[in-house]
Amino acid sequence: MKAWVLSKNGIDNLNLKEIEKPKIKPEEVLIKIKAIGLNPIDSMVIDLIPVKSEIIPCAEFAGEIEDVGKNVKELKKGDKVSVYNRYFDGTCSYCLSGEEMLCDNGYIFSIGSNGGLAEYAAVNQKNAIKIPDSVGFELAASLPVAALTSYNALDRANVKKDEFVVVVGASGNTGIFALQFAKMRGAKTIAISSKDWVKDYGADYVIGYENAVEEVKKITNSSMANIVIDSIGEKLWDLGYSLLGKNGRMVAFGTETGSNAKIDISQLYSKQLSVLGSTGGSLKQFSEMVDKSNNLNVKVWKKFNFQDAKEAFEENNNKEKNGRVMISLQ
Ligand SMILES: [Zn+2]
Repeated sequence: MKAWVLSKNGIDNLNLKEIEKPKIKPEEVLIKIKAIGLNPIDSMVIDLIPVKSEIIPCAEFAGEIEDVGKNVKELKKGDKVSVYNRYFDGTCSYCLSGEEMLCDNGYIFSIGSNGGLAEYAAVNQKNAIKIPDSVGFELAASLPVAALTSYNALDRANVKKDEFVVVVGASGNTGIFALQFAKMRGAKTIAISSKDWVKDYGADYVIGYENAVEEVKKITNSSMANIVIDSIGEKLWDLGYSLLGKNGRMVAFGTETGSNAKIDISQLYSKQLSVLGSTGGSLKQFSEMVDKSNNLNVKVWKKFNFQDAKEAFEENNNKEKNGRVMISLQ
């Protein structure tokens, strides 16, 4: 099969090769990959995370089952699946409490083992989640990272009906799903974005960051935000934090603009704020999300053929990005 193989850090060391198709173990399934979603984590894999041995990048992918191992019962050839992209041992205290993303021995595919930038991938049956036939592969390949990260973030913040949720970087991969999930929970959504189209993805209000404080004050009748979702890190951290009202919760899960932030402790206690982190999500959350996937939408900005993967990575770093960058093998 054809696969993009990273031999050491740097995009110049990513090469399209002919390698052996994976052989499945009894509890594994072989997936013919149909779509791949690009995320900041993939650029980190290519440029920053030390490459110990040759590895196939890309953490977010979906496809169709081509073959199943002899112990696989619930999946069959032809099933459409999205891939829960974490290895977990199933035995540590976190796995036993249903938090596979915190597994003591866990890792993300594309870092600890091969990812999805290939024609085929073999994964454990537990990691292949069947999706409804009506869900397209572009959405299916947006569930494992873009959607699940937001889903868990809203769970962490315990977003409730009628609360005001501010999404910083609302047009990004995770942002559009944070808006959609917040609406599903009955919350009121405020997108900080320069893109008006986020209204089509669940934003009740779209505001710019220059006058965000005044705008949020106006919209919330001075009570300010109940929840702020921050996916971009350092650059707009102070702004996001300043938008929180009493008992406000801020959830962070991205560091694209840096990872150092200050916290005003007097604000923290006097308003009883909570600052939360979230990473990926659990298998249970993934299934819940798949059940709602018929009502989700993804905005694809550019779609590349498999052989043009390098170009896709380049465009994924484009500051003018206006929706997702995806790679298609259909
Ligand atoms: Zn574990």
